[in-house]
Parts: sequence; C-alpha cells; structure tokens
Amino acid sequence: MRILILGGTTEASELIEILAGDGRFRPTLSLAGRTTRRPSHEINTRVGGFGGEEGLAEWIASHGVDAVIDATHPFAVRISANARRATLRCGIPLCTVLRPAWQAGPGDLWTEVSDFEASVAALGQTPQRVFLTIGRQTISAFKAAPQHHYLIRSIEMPEAEDLPTNFELVAGDRSIDFARELDFLRSNRVDVIVSKNSGGAAIHGKIEAARCLSIPIIMISRPHKDSGFPAPTSKAAFAWLERIHGASSRSERGV
Ligand code: NAP
Repeated sequence: MRILILGGTTEASELIEILAGDGRFRPTLSLAGRTTRRPSHEINTRVGGFGGEEGLAEWIASHGVDAVIDATHPFAVRISANARRATLRCGIPLCTVLRPAWQAGPGDLWTEVSDFEASVAALGQTPQRVFLTIGRQTISAFKAAPQHHYLIRSIEMPEAEDLPTNFELVAGDRSIDFARELDFLRSNRVDVIVSKNSGGAAIHGKIEAARCLSIPIIMISRPHKDSGFPAPTSKAAFAWLERIHGASSRSERGV
C-alpha cells in the first residue's frame, strides 16, 4: 500500500520507525519545510506545500496513494483541513494522529485562552518576565505588549521583524526534562509562561517545573482540527493501517 504521511512531529517520526522494513507499506513522508529536521530513517521524503486541497488531491491521485496519515501538529489546522477534503475527494481513507491535550492538575496555575491574541491580553499591563514557548510563527503577536521582557525559546529562530522590542532568544530542544526546565525557570527569573497546549511527553517538563515553582501558565487551547479516523498515538495509527491493509487484501482475494 502506498501511504502518504503528513509529518513534522514526533509521532510521524515514530511511525516511520515502525514502518521501516515492513514490506506491506510504501510510505512517503511529507514535510512543510519550515524546519531543517529530516527523518533519521531511510524514507521517501518530499518537502514543501502541495498547493492547497487541489494540489494535495492531485498529488494523491498522481502517486497512486492508497491511504493518508495526517500526523501533523495539533496546531497545524490548514494542512489537516486540506487532507480531510482531498482524501474525501479521492475516495481514500484518512487517519489523524492527535496526541491528547495536557490537562491542568492540582497545583497548576493555568489561565486557558482561546488564541494568541488572548494570551497577549492575559499578560496584563504590569511588566513581567515572560517565557514564550510557542514556536516562531506566532511570536509577532507579542509586539503588541512591549512592556514585558520576553525569553523566546524556539528550535528554529524567528524572523527579526517578528520579534518584540525587549527579548532574549534561547535555543530550543525537542525534549527538555523537568530538572533542566526547573533550572531554566529559576535562573531566568520567569514570572509567567505562555504555551500552546501541544500535549505530549517530550516537553511536559516545563509544565511540571512551573507547578513546582508556582509559576502561572497562560495556556493556549487547541484550535479545531479536521480529522479522519482518530489515533492518539503512532502505534494506534499503525494498527489502523494494518486493519485497512488486511481489509484490502481480503477484498482483492474476494474473501
Ligand atoms: P498549517 O498552517 O496547517 O499549514 C500551512 C501550509 O503549510 C499548508 O496549507 C501546506 O501548504 C503546508 N504544509 C503544512 N504541513 C505540511 C506537510 N506536512 N507537508 C506538506 N505541506 C505542509 O501548518 P503549520 O502550523 O504552518 O505547520 C507546518 C508544519 O510544521 C506541519 O507539518 C506541522 O506538523 C509542523 N509543526 C507545526 C507546529 C505548530 O505549532 N503549528 C509545531 C510543530 C511542528 P499547501 O496548502 O501549499 O499544501
């Protein structure tokens, strides 16, 4: 089966590892090309946008794709909307890997907001040392609140014109544990954190460290993401693939 994996996440990388060497599937990984991250396993990879729903549908048809796995980030909503519509149009199955959102627990000081603009407003007027861990694409929203000092942690560096006046850049890492986060928050005298509710274990250390130090978090809730068959993990997506592979082999044999 020819599989298109829309990636850019840990789950997509995990799925590629699971599929490595499995002769039943011929996966192609698609990356938006926003980061320099490339898969560690040998896999057919294409980079860059398809040109909307239309372009994606054309790509699916011209490459004989049998199924799509949308393993993009919970905040990547445009590609998921395109994947949903393009797979419906082409009449092929879609599975969406969506890791569970983080939930506030005892001791967490969260203010949940619906979008980036609301997170800026929630910072208030009093100057604070703000730790931004929201990726580089939406940093520019914080130019509207120049009274704060921003510690910006991002894997890829933001564009200069997107940066607020008063900032420090901190190199990001895909996985930062509790002890390092604790040290970071303390040594940088962080007053408040702004985070997307990305979910996942790799960066949960900052949530635990904030709880430990009673640092409030302005948590940006997830946007609606169009989806196909829901899979909370890469393993669940693989189980789905095996099921549809089994069903298509049976129907080819006329069973
Ligand atoms: P988005 O707003 O949903 O997508 C914008 C456009 O980028 C899409 O319409 C599509 O262009 C292209 N695109 C996105 N993902 C693609 C993929 N895997 N392969 C080919 N084209 C893709 O997405 P985004 O928020 O900019 O995120 C871009 C990528 O970064 C995603 O793959 C996502 O998994 C990853 N990522 C995003 C975040 C986040 O917070 N948003 C965090 C970590 C990783 P066309 O319409 O031209 O096809």
